[in-house]
Amino acid sequence: MDVRGPEGALARAGARVGRVTGRALARRLGRRPARLPEGFPPTVSFTFDDFPESAFANALPVLRRANAPATWYVSCGLLGAQSPVGVIAGPERVVALHEAGHEIGDHTFGHLDARAVSAARYGSDLAANQDSLARLVPGLRPASFAYPYGQVTLGAKRAASARIPACRGTEAGIARGTFDLAMLPATALYDRAMTRAGVEALVADVARRGGWLIFYTHDVAPSPSPWGCSPSLFEASVAAALAAGLRLATVAAVSGEIRGRASA
Ligand SMILES: [Zn+2]
Repeated sequence: MDVRGPEGALARAGARVGRVTGRALARRLGRRPARLPEGFPPTVSFTFDDFPESAFANALPVLRRANAPATWYVSCGLLGAQSPVGVIAGPERVVALHEAGHEIGDHTFGHLDARAVSAARYGSDLAANQDSLARLVPGLRPASFAYPYGQVTLGAKRAASARIPACRGTEAGIARGTFDLAMLPATALYDRAMTRAGVEALVADVARRGGWLIFYTHDVAPSPSPWGCSPSLFEASVAAALAAGLRLATVAAVSGEIRGRASA
């Protein structure tokens, strides 16, 4: 399709309006309202999307020293592939993380953009990823999900939250008061978007006022991609959370507490 000229501009404007409307609808509808339980300790979850080999190599030792589990969102269709955030880790890494007590979350099989496919396709692809993960790690049933690219439509939200209790978006914020378990807020831990001082301010806020802060990133490398962070920022973030007295927990564990069930 020719997108030049006035008609192209109109089509682009229409697509933009469609995206904004889609996201706005998803924000307001299909909600799964939740509150943190009484006595909930100030908590931070570190999450990795996709996840590249560099995150495994450079973030895992930091987490191990902190004795802290994290959440790793896997698209089985990407395992071992080259990607803009570096080489995606292979299946043996998924098994190793699960055995080490980390959470493996769903991220659709094909790393789908919610805007590009039907809700039915989104749901079946997400379920296919669940099946692939269960084949990789017998008994594994993902308890949380992250929307690839942070893209959420109402149809995708309904498809995901019908299958998985906790779904994470990429809109910054801290979960406190009433929040949406089907579109959890999360803050980018990217070198280009976040500083050590910024992390310290966020964790200080959670320590003071309570809440659940979720960070997400992709690669963890000395020269990170635009969607990743350096090992030094990652290490400083974990250290800041610990220094502020925050608990480090997986999304599944917190979601289980919210829903009053045993954590996964
Ligand atoms: Zn992703």
